[in-house]
Amino acid sequence: MNRPYNFSAGPAAMPVEVLQQAAAEMLDWQGTGMGVMEMSHRGKAFMSIIAAAEADLRELLAVPDHFRILFMQGGGLAENAIVPMNLSRGGAVDIVVTGGWSQKSYKEARKYCQPQVAASNEADQHTTLPPPAGWQLRDNAQYVHLCSNETIHGIEVHELPDLRALGSDAPLVIDFSSHVASRSVDWSRVGLAFGGAQKNLGPAGLTLVVVREDLLGHALAICPSAFDYKTVAANGSMYNTPPTYAIYMAGLTFQWLKRQHEGALSGVAAMEQRNIAKAELLYGFIDQSQLYLNKVAHNCRSRMNVPFFLRDESRNDAFLAGAQTRGLLQLKGHKSVGGMRASLYNALPLAGVQALVDYMRDFEQTQA
Ligand SMILES: *Cc1c(COP(=O)(O)O)cnc(C)c1O
Repeated sequence: MNRPYNFSAGPAAMPVEVLQQAAAEMLDWQGTGMGVMEMSHRGKAFMSIIAAAEADLRELLAVPDHFRILFMQGGGLAENAIVPMNLSRGGAVDIVVTGGWSQKSYKEARKYCQPQVAASNEADQHTTLPPPAGWQLRDNAQYVHLCSNETIHGIEVHELPDLRALGSDAPLVIDFSSHVASRSVDWSRVGLAFGGAQKNLGPAGLTLVVVREDLLGHALAICPSAFDYKTVAANGSMYNTPPTYAIYMAGLTFQWLKRQHEGALSGVAAMEQRNIAKAELLYGFIDQSQLYLNKVAHNCRSRMNVPFFLRDESRNDAFLAGAQTRGLLQLKGHKSVGGMRASLYNALPLAGVQALVDYMRDFEQTQA
């Protein structure tokens, strides 16, 4: 099926096979006579859906046994409060500020604990990654927060820091909302990872939390029971009604991911190869062009979110209108940054990036 290419930063494009399967099963899931939205979350049918989703995700991301996978609600922004409520013990927390999302994490954490900015790239207008060796990490920090992909500023951490090597025993918390399942995760360096589903996993409404077991059970007394990781884990993400349809859709996406192959690679490893090729194609074109500009330092350019500018900003509207007629959707940049942004999540194929580059080249030529 031919659809336009959708570059939305989130909620974002989903694999067409996933949408088609969901459509086919909308009225009757596997002979039960019910759609997934209409099922009790405690019934046999949905229990099998959530169990498969969790097992498939564990396999795809190679999540070790001593981590729990939680399906929650509230999105990445709610986790900015839920993480400190569960992990901070009201004490010191170190936060690396690399862009708009980690900035928000810092501000929210101040309601629950004593966060400190361990490093910031604000002086570089959020275009660089502060080298971990220079982070100001406190001995008494309960955790270190890092946004491993800054969706708005287009900065990605390509190698997670080894906090032990930096002299810290604190667990690393990563916000991987916008690049989860686009690449592998080195769990030996992570204490907790969280992300909203609506960028790379499925529809909005589902939040994924992967947390090391020893970090459960330290929630502040004020923490709502439904947001206490220990309670959520003890109840198999069913303390309260989980976002059942979003979990089902994410589960279909996990099955789709498992079917993806690139040569000998499959699943997330195959996606990572594709995502590297997609990003190289777009950045390579931008860097040689006279019209387009990406300001992010090369060592931390995001494979998922590519903000770029037209050197002649008076052409922005014409660029977006032309893109729309070529079937290239949602390229307008975030309001805080301006310009354009192309999000290249898993569901966007290389052909979509090629179509974007072809359009950008044609547009540049008409400007000459
Ligand atoms: C989208 C996003 C969020 C916010 O997610 P919500 O679901 O809107 O709360 C947080 N962090 C990052 C890195 C994101 O990309």
